[in-house]
Order: sequence, then structure tokens, then C-alpha cells
Amino acid sequence: MQEKCSGCGTEIEENECVACEGGYICQECAKKLRILFPKVLTWQKEIDRAGRGDVDVEERAIWLDPLAEASSDEIPEMIKRADEERNARRQHYGADNRAVFIVDDNHKRMKYPGESDKVLGEYVIMGRVVLGDISGNGEIAVSRRNKVYTKTIKRVELTTGVILTKTDSIDEGNYGAIVVQEDTPFIYPGDTLIIR
Ligand SMILES: [Zn+2]
Repeated sequence: MQEKCSGCGTEIEENECVACEGGYICQECAKKLRILFPKVLTWQKEIDRAGRGDVDVEERAIWLDPLAEASSDEIPEMIKRADEERNARRQHYGADNRAVFIVDDNHKRMKYPGESDKVLGEYVIMGRVVLGDISGNGEIAVSRRNKVYTKTIKRVELTTGVILTKTDSIDEGNYGAIVVQEDTPFIYPGDTLIIR
């Protein structure tokens, strides 16, 4: 079924767009809006009556999309605000940088499941892109102890919550992983990585 995008008015197929309150948004407008409306990754849990607190029912991730709560009439205004926010962040972080990433987790990956003899020793830095898009090349830089530490990006990956898969780009506002081959003992959750 054909629908009109609430942002730009383009005719779109219902199955190729993002739903908002009372309308639809094309992929291009949704990409522009992610800086203000990043998706939230959360987990399905149930309360354990034995008193051990929340337990995972199964490893099932749920993506919450705040765009679903935005009303269709406010979308054009929100696209303007997203542009303003992007410009403000560019000024704040430095216009020459390609992207900015906030770290959520940093772990070492030793091997792929089922490939027990292949040692990887790569570091998987999970987090969110808060400005720009991150492709599988370039380098990450983080300032610490009056020094700037840099590492080369080996690859970028997207997550379903459980499975990480290689991708060409983690787009602005999205959650994913930057993989580097070398040790990264200076990257902590909460760090801001500049992508150059
Ligand atoms: Zn649109």
C-alpha cells in the first residue's frame, strides 16, 4: 500500500517505512531523525518469584523506537531540529571529524563460535553513534591523561542484541560495534571516541 512520508511527502511503500503516530516516515527522513530519536535496545525479562530478582526469559532483545510515539504533524519540525542538533554537535566536537561514538562496553573476542582453533584477539567496542556515520575504515581517537590514543578500525558490526553481523556502516543515532585488532586498554564505558 502507498503512503505519503510525513517528513518530505514522498510516496512510500508501507512495508519500507517507519511508523509514527498517525503516519509514516521514509527511510531517508528516519535516518535524519535518528540523532534525536535513537532506538533503545532492551531485554525481555521476567520476575523470579524465588526472590533472585529479574532473570532473562531467553536471550531476546527488544528494540524500542521512540519515532513510533512522535506525531506525524511534528515530523517536519523535528527534521529541522535534528539538523540544528547535528550542526551544534559538529561545532562542539570539531567539524573536521567524521563521526563521534559513545562507548557502552569494551570486550575482547577470542574466537567465533564453532571455530575453536582460530584465535582472534580482537576488541569489540559497543556503543552509539551520536554524530555522523561510521564505516569500516579510519581510526578512533580518545583523549586521556593529556594524551590522544588512536587505533585503526578493522570493521564495524550491527547487533540484533544477541548476534553481531558485519556491516558497511553504523549510521548516525544507531547502536553497533567498532572492532579493532589491537589491545585497547584505555577505552572505558562512557568514553567519547572521535572517528577520524
Ligand atoms: Zn521522507
